[in-house]
Amino acid sequence: MSGDVETTLRGPEAYKVARAAMELMERHQVWPTALNFELWTHYVADPEGPLARELGRLLSEGEALTETVCEELAAAYLAKVRLNDQIRDAGDQLSKELSAVSTAIREAQKSNQSYGQTLAGASKGLTTTTDANSFKAMVDELSAATRRVQRENKSLEKRLDDSTTEVNRLREHLEQVRRDATTDGLTNLANRKAFDDELDRACAEADTAGTILTLAVLDIDHFKGFNDTWGHQTGDQVIRYVASVIGRIGAPPRFAARYGGEEFAMIFPNEDAALVESCLEEIRHEVASRTLKRRSTNEDLGTVTISAGLAQRQVGEPALAAMERADSALYTSKRTGRNRVTNGERIVAAA
Ligand code: GH3
Ligand code: MG
Ligand code: MG
Repeated sequence: MSGDVETTLRGPEAYKVARAAMELMERHQVWPTALNFELWTHYVADPEGPLARELGRLLSEGEALTETVCEELAAAYLAKVRLNDQIRDAGDQLSKELSAVSTAIREAQKSNQSYGQTLAGASKGLTTTTDANSFKAMVDELSAATRRVQRENKSLEKRLDDSTTEVNRLREHLEQVRRDATTDGLTNLANRKAFDDELDRACAEADTAGTILTLAVLDIDHFKGFNDTWGHQTGDQVIRYVASVIGRIGAPPRFAARYGGEEFAMIFPNEDAALVESCLEEIRHEVASRTLKRRSTNEDLGTVTISAGLAQRQVGEPALAAMERADSALYTSKRTGRNRVTNGERIVAAA
């Protein structure tokens, strides 16, 4: 668990672990970037953990630890670890807050109980006492007890107010963590997990309402070559640009996600294949007609194109089957020259 790794890196073994990580990075020829350092300290400090097992597997298969591979490892393992930590911390804070409140309430109950006893004693005393002095003492005692209980109730009230504020803050924090977990860091679109969840939800909704929905899969053309020519970082900028076009046209009630590296997926509730085809044409055209510039140097990068495929889901059709049809329509676009949209329903109709 990362909590343990974080502890190790602040404990007596810290520098030994850090040195071992440095040596491994040098031996395996990866740059000592902050990200790689994090990966390798995890590898050393938690050799049985999922990250270390995966890294070990890649090494034993002689896989080159390229920047992309390392970033993917970090995204898959460190992000999850970080998220789990955040969720655990937020949960801890919440339960600490709740137990403090429950203690405060218990104490208030106790003091209300003893006030009740004081009242009961006084009422018995009042009926039997005739002496003015003890009568006055009793009244003094009663009003002191009343003031005490009032004070305590007020402080409980304040405690509950503070606690409500704190619980709201924690709830917002958890909400943020949850949002992070469903968002792709590079593009700010939904990530694949969020897409899969949304697809299930949208299909169930469509089945209940007896409506259709159309699915689309989009993929940047010849992107490997683009990366090879211009580098991974510039490639990332292009992914962000394409995502921004897709996100704009895929705004709610539509749904757009980064499905994989340079691949996107969209859900169009209540829209038929012909409608979606024209939307995808719009995206395709917009991407293809924009001349890209490298941000750091203003160099002309030329243009990139995308291919897309779509399938209209029939009522009751399994989500996965419809996705596969959209995917095979995308494949048709790739096979028949790229920079095009294939409407899977048209192929079926023609066949
Ligand atoms: P095709 O037209 O058939 O889609 O060719 P392609 O080269 O785009 O397809 P392929 O699936 O062979 O390669 C996809 C490439 O996309 C591989 C990788 O270099 C690149 N890629 C994947 N994810 C990322 C990413 O997050 N950032 C960058 N910069 N490149 C990525
Ligand atoms: Mg591609
Ligand atoms: Mg691809």
